[in-house]
Amino acid sequence: MGAAAAYFLTRLGVKPLLLERATLGSGGTGRSLAILRMHYSNEITVRIAHESHRIIAAFLEEVGAPSGFVRTGYLLLAGPGQENALRRNVALGRRVGVKTESLSPADAAKIAPPGFSFDGVAAVAYEPESGYADSSAVLNGFASAARAAGAKVQLGTNVTAIRVADGRVVGVDTDRGRLESGAVIVVAGPWTPDLLAPLGIKVPLSVVRHQVVRLHRPLDRLPSHPTVGDVPGGLSFRPDSGDVTLVGVREDPAERDTFKQSVDTDVAEDALTLLAKRHSAFADAGWDGGWCGLFDITPDWHPIIDRVPEIEGLVLGVGFSGHGFKLSPAVGRALAELAVHGRASTIEMQPLRFARFEEGDLLRSAYGGTVFA
Ligand SMILES: Cc1cc2nc3c(=O)[nH]c(=O)nc-3n(C[C@H](O)[C@H](O)[C@H](O)COP(=O)(O)OP(=O)(O)OC[C@H]3O[C@@H](n4cnc5c(N)ncnc54)[C@H](O)[C@@H]3O)c2cc1C
Repeated sequence: MGAAAAYFLTRLGVKPLLLERATLGSGGTGRSLAILRMHYSNEITVRIAHESHRIIAAFLEEVGAPSGFVRTGYLLLAGPGQENALRRNVALGRRVGVKTESLSPADAAKIAPPGFSFDGVAAVAYEPESGYADSSAVLNGFASAARAAGAKVQLGTNVTAIRVADGRVVGVDTDRGRLESGAVIVVAGPWTPDLLAPLGIKVPLSVVRHQVVRLHRPLDRLPSHPTVGDVPGGLSFRPDSGDVTLVGVREDPAERDTFKQSVDTDVAEDALTLLAKRHSAFADAGWDGGWCGLFDITPDWHPIIDRVPEIEGLVLGVGFSGHGFKLSPAVGRALAELAVHGRASTIEMQPLRFARFEEGDLLRSAYGGTVFA
């Protein structure tokens, strides 16, 4: 989010400074499965995902770097009782301009790989244009283009405090000294509350650990497969290069700075069992490690993208709840617009305002409080 915001700030004529305490990608972005889909339950997220998909698919022309985008097609599998909600989401997507259709499991079987099972699935949403990208490529693409346009990227710099005087931002303190600025965009992922709490601002955020299981599937039996969001199974999976399939699974409470980085054996076994129900080739897949990362979750599983009302010049982008990569280009632009013009004009972000939690005006999800938001 920081790199995207820096890039779009340069497009608005500003030469920003991006501060990162470690290296680019050391947070959630470097661990992302980077699945791109546009199926969402709220118009605001559909619009952000649709516009971001356009930018990532045309990254080379728009930003000047490859994004690693691979169009695999996306199948969202919904369980019994979720059929109407899925159809509503598909209709919403189509209104916004997303190429998508709702299918019966029997019709979905015609476009899925031979032998794919829709057991326990009541309805399917299909997006032929969706797939996945390379989160590091997108992050570094934004950062390089921002640098080329005059932004500075300073690594190894920990922001220790946001400085405020007379109700407005005047800069930040870092472990490498004090910096002056009339505008600060805070996009520190799970660590954001630490920077805002001293200012009396409480961000409703919880943190969970998500696991990515890496498998090798028998290529002769399953040469390729679409990207799949399996709501009844509670996981998502996508192909990677060669015979690799990556599975994103589980959300467990975690300590931000000491969470276990490797995949749990029982979770890998469960993931293999669930996938083998979808296609028998996965019964003979080999588990080859994986990694874990953190989700920064808000109460409605949607981000906060807003100016902090009490403090002039302070902008917040946090709480991406495990699905922020696919939103990052349009969110980065909105954050830049908020910082420079005081409002997001390309896509109005009012539904994602900070005050919605206090107002009780939370976004809803067709699939309950999950990453499928
Ligand atoms: C395992 C996993 C799988 C995922 N899969 C998907 C997916 O398939 N599709 C999708 O759309 N999304 C996915 N996501 C979510 C997505 O990756 C995140 O929502 C997104 O990358 C968040 O970006 P960010 O810039 O907000 O946070 P981050 O990438 O965490 O960046 C925050 C940065 O702030 C830095 N920082 C923190 N505190 C300070 C400080 N005080 N001073 C200086 N720097 C600081 C950190 O070092 C970090 O680099 C996944 C996430 C994980 C963890």
